[in-house]
Amino acid sequence: MKLSKKILVTGGAGFIGSHLCKALLSRKIEVYVIDNLSTGSLTNIEEFIDDTNFHFVQADLCDGILFNESFDWICHLASPASPDAYRREPIATLRVNTEGTRLVLEYARQCNAKVLFASTSEVYGDPKMHPQKEDYWGNVNCYGERSCYDEGKRCAEALCYAYAQTYGVRIQIIRIFNTYGPRMQATDGRVICNFLEQISRGKTLSIYGNGEQTRCFQYIDDLLAAILRILSMEVCTSPMNIGNPEECSILELAKLLCELTSSNLELKYFSMPLDDPSRRCPDISFAQQALGWSPRVSLREGLLKLIHSRKN
Ligand code: NAD
Ligand code: UDP
Repeated sequence: MKLSKKILVTGGAGFIGSHLCKALLSRKIEVYVIDNLSTGSLTNIEEFIDDTNFHFVQADLCDGILFNESFDWICHLASPASPDAYRREPIATLRVNTEGTRLVLEYARQCNAKVLFASTSEVYGDPKMHPQKEDYWGNVNCYGERSCYDEGKRCAEALCYAYAQTYGVRIQIIRIFNTYGPRMQATDGRVICNFLEQISRGKTLSIYGNGEQTRCFQYIDDLLAAILRILSMEVCTSPMNIGNPEECSILELAKLLCELTSSNLELKYFSMPLDDPSRRCPDISFAQQALGWSPRVSLREGLLKLIHSRKN
C-alpha cells in the first residue's frame, strides 16, 4: 500500500519526530511540523530544514494548528517525554496531551485526516501484569510526580476513542516503550543519556534505587519501521504496543554500556524516584500480527550504533 502525501507531525523537532520527518521526506512526502522547541531543537531538523517539502512553524500546539492544509495523516508526538522534562513542566505536559490532542482531533475531523497518537508504556503505570498486553488497564497513580504524563496520555487516549466513536475520526494509538537513538537530548535525564554522558566525562554512573528495576529499550529504527507501516495502512483503532521485549535491569544496562565503551566506572546509588515503575516489558503480539513487524535491533547492537553516532 502507498504512503500518504501530506502529513503533519506535531513535535517534529524532537528526538522521534525528527527521525520520522526525515524518513517521510526521503519518501517524497510533504511534511508539516508544529513544535515549540521546549524539548526539541532546530539542530534536530537542520539537515532537512531547506527541503521544499518541509514546512516548519515554531509554535505551541495549544495555541492552535497554524496551517491551513488538508492532511492525510496527523502524527501527534508533541509532549515532553523524559521524566525530568515533564516533572519540570507538569501543567504544559497536561495541556499538550489534553487540549493539544483535542485540537489535533478537531482538525482531523475537519479535514478527514487519520491520527496517529504517540502514547506510552506509562499508561500502564507501575504494572502488576507482565508482560503488558494492550487490554491491561494499568496501575497508575493519578496524584503524583508522574501523573501529569501518565494521566495526560491516558486522557489523550480517551479523547481519541471519543472522537472515533462520536465523529468517526480514524485513529491509531501506539503505546511506545522506551526508545533510544541518535538525537536524544544528551541532558534530558533519561537513563541511556545519563549513562553515556557520565561515561564520556569519566564520572560515576547514577543508579536510582537498587538498579534491579527493568526496562525494555527499543532502537529508533525499529519504532520508525512500525510507524511507517501504520502510515501505509488503514487504522485498526485499538491501541498497539510498540517496543522491544528484550528486558534488562538498569544494573545490566550500566554493565553493558561500560563493556561497550571499555570503561570501568563505579556505580553511585541514589534514592528511587517516586512512582518509578519496577518492571516494564511489552507484549507485542498484536503489532506483530497486525503490522507483520518485529523489532530487529538487539540492545547491544543498538547501543553500539548510538555510541558510534556520538563519535561522529
Ligand atoms: P522529545 O522531547 O524529543 O520530543 C517532543 C517534541 O514535542 C519536542 O520537540 C518538543 O519541543 C515538542 N513539544 C512539546 N510540547 C509542545 C507543545 N505544547 N507544542 C508544540 N510542540 C511541543 O521526545 P520524544 O522522545 O521524541 O517523544 C515524542 C513522543 O513520543 C512524545 O509524545 C512522547 O510522549 C512519546 N513517547 C516517547 C518515548 C521515548 O522513549 N522516547 C516513549 C513513549 C512515548
Ligand atoms: N535511572 C537510573 N539512573 C539514571 C536515570 C534513570 O537508574 O541516571 C532509572 C530510572 O529510575 C528508571 C529507569 O532508569 O527506573 C529508566 O528511566 P528513564 O528516565 O530513562 O525512563 P522511564 O522509563 O522511567 O520513563
